[in-house]
Amino acid sequence: MKAVLINKDDNGYGATLTDVDESQLPEGDVTVKVDYSSINFKDGLAITGSSPVVRSFPMVPGIDLAGAVETSSHPDFKTGDMVVLNGWGVGETHWGGMAEKARLNGDWLVPLPNAFSAKQAMAIGTAGYTAMLCVLALEKNGVTPDQGEILVTGAAGGVGSVAISILNKLGYTVVASTGRPEQADYLKSLGASDTIDRNELSEKGRPLGKERWAGAVDCVGSHTLANICATMKYGGTVAACGLAQGFDLPATVMPFILRGVTLAGVDSVMCPKERRLEAWQRLATDLDLGHIETLMNEVSLEEAINIAPEILEGKVRGRTVVKVSN
Ligand code: NDP
Repeated sequence: MKAVLINKDDNGYGATLTDVDESQLPEGDVTVKVDYSSINFKDGLAITGSSPVVRSFPMVPGIDLAGAVETSSHPDFKTGDMVVLNGWGVGETHWGGMAEKARLNGDWLVPLPNAFSAKQAMAIGTAGYTAMLCVLALEKNGVTPDQGEILVTGAAGGVGSVAISILNKLGYTVVASTGRPEQADYLKSLGASDTIDRNELSEKGRPLGKERWAGAVDCVGSHTLANICATMKYGGTVAACGLAQGFDLPATVMPFILRGVTLAGVDSVMCPKERRLEAWQRLATDLDLGHIETLMNEVSLEEAINIAPEILEGKVRGRTVVKVSN
C-alpha cells in the first residue's frame, strides 16, 4: 500500500511517500480502506517535526480518515460500512490516515453520517468536528443568538471557517478575527457579518475592557485569548480550542470573578464517543453543505507532504482534504 511515512534516524527527521507492506499495519480489530484523509495544524507539526507530536517511528501521519471497512471483528462494524475517525492519538502514536489502509480500534470509529460523502467528512475533519464541539460548549453554557456578537479567531483556518458557517446557520451574528484581510470576502461568504484585524487582539492588554462578545471560539490562545476574556459581556462563554499564537495564557482572574465569564476548554482527541456522535449528528444538520465546497481544497498524498509547512505558517485557507485511494 502507498503511505506517507515519517522517519527519524541518523539522517534526521523526514516524511516520504513510500510503498509499505500491509503486514506492518499496527494491531486493531477493524481494517479500513482509506478514501480520504485531511491536513490539520497537528498534521503539519507531525510531518515537519516542528513539535514532538509523533511519539514512535516510523509513523503514518493523518489524525483524520474516512473510508470503508474492509475487515472487522468489532461487533459494531462490518465489511462495507463507511466510517470516520478523528484523533485518539492516530497519526501520533498509532498509524494514521495518510495510507491506503489503516488498522484501528473499532471503539474509535464513528459511522459516516448519511449526509456526507467520505470527502465531505474529511473537508470537515478534526478541525470541523472541533468547531462543532466549540459551538456545543457555547450552547451548553447558555449562549443564544439574541445575546449579541460571537467572535471567531483564526477565522480563515480550518476550525475558524467551519465555526463561522455553523454559527451563521444557527442564527448567531459572527465577527471573524483574521490576519489575512484579503480573506474578508471569503469569511463573509461563510457567514461572518464583519471582520477585525487579529492585531487588535494579539498584544498584551488590560485585565478588563469594554464588554463586547456574548461568546467566542478561540483557535489562537496567548494574549488573544486573554484579551477575549477581558472583553466578554457579563456571563459570556469562550470556547478555547487552539494555540496558533501560543500556548500561554497571560490573563487575570478579573473577567471570571467580576463578569462571571466562563472559559470552556475543548478537546477533540480524547473526547468521549457519545459526544463525538452528537457532534457529527449536529454537523449533518447545522453545517451548510454548500460551504463545504467553498472552504475545501484537495491534494494528493505527495502534495500533503509539501503543504505541511504552509499550514504552520498560516498560509492555508479553510480545509485541505487528502485523496488517498482511487
Ligand atoms: P489552521 O492552521 O487551519 O488555522 C489556524 C489559523 O490561526 C490560521 O489560519 C490563522 O488564521 C491563525 N493564526 C496562525 N498563526 C497565528 C498567530 N501567530 N497569531 C494569531 N493567529 C494566528 O489550523 P486549525 O484551524 O486546524 O486549528 C486551529 C488551532 O486549533 C490550532 O492551534 C490547532 O492546534 C488547534 N486545534 C485543537 C483541537 C483540539 O482538540 N483542542 C483540534 C483541532 C485544532 P487567520 O489567517 O485568519 O488569522
